[in-house]
Formats: sequence, C-alpha cells, structure tokens
Amino acid sequence: MKEPFPCQPQNNEVDDVNKKEMLERFSYLEKRFQDLQEDFGTLKKDLVQLVEENHQLAHENHHLRQRLDNLTPEEKKQEIKTNDDQKGDGQSSVGEGYDNLARIYEEGFHICHVYFGTPREEEDCIFCLKFFG
Ligand SMILES: [Zn+2]
Repeated sequence: MKEPFPCQPQNNEVDDVNKKEMLERFSYLEKRFQDLQEDFGTLKKDLVQLVEENHQLAHENHHLRQRLDNLTPEEKKQEIKTNDDQKGDGQSSVGEGYDNLARIYEEGFHICHVYFGTPREEEDCIFCLKFFG
C-alpha cells in the first residue's frame, strides 16, 4: 500500500481508501454475481430436466390411461367368462401379458400357437378359445 505524499491534500487519502474499498466491493459483487449466474445456470438445467421428465411422464400416463380404457371392457368380459366356467386353469395366466393377448384376440387376431398373429376374421377360433379356458 502506497504511503500518501505529505504534500498532497488529505482529501486524496480518503479518496484512495474509498477507491480501494469500492474496488474490493466491486470484486466481491462481481464474484457473487458469477456465483449467482452459476447457480442460475444449474437451476435452469434442473428445470429443463424436470420439464422433460414431466413431459415424458404425462406422455406415458396418457398411454397407460388409453391402455387401461382399452382393457377394461375385456376385463369385464373375462370376469364374466371366468364366472361362467370356474376352472382353476386361468389363475396362473392372469397378468399383463394375458391381458395383452386377450386384447389382441378381441382386436381380431389369433393368439393360439397354430395361427398366432394372423387375422381371425369374425369367427372364434377353438385353439384361441382354449387359451381362455
Ligand atoms: Zn386361433
């Protein structure tokens, strides 16, 4: 730190101190501003990620709701069917895969191992029906 010259007016010494203080303060604020900018950048990244996740979840939720809407009528039919002939056979196959196959069958395709995946027209297939047995 420079010693103030005695010949200079005292005013200058005060100015020097003020300048140094101002510079230090400016540096401090600049540092804080940079930190804030970094924080802001991180927050913005997190926000973007959240928005993307939210979008994906909404999309997935939409699809799951659609699938649920599609499955519900078949589940009701399935309930009636299992009530009609209560054989213990169907118990092990209850699940998502089973529901999917039931839906595929209702949409008009074979699910039996004989004609699997081919259109079954309007008629019921005895091999497919065995699956529901
Ligand atoms: Zn079939």
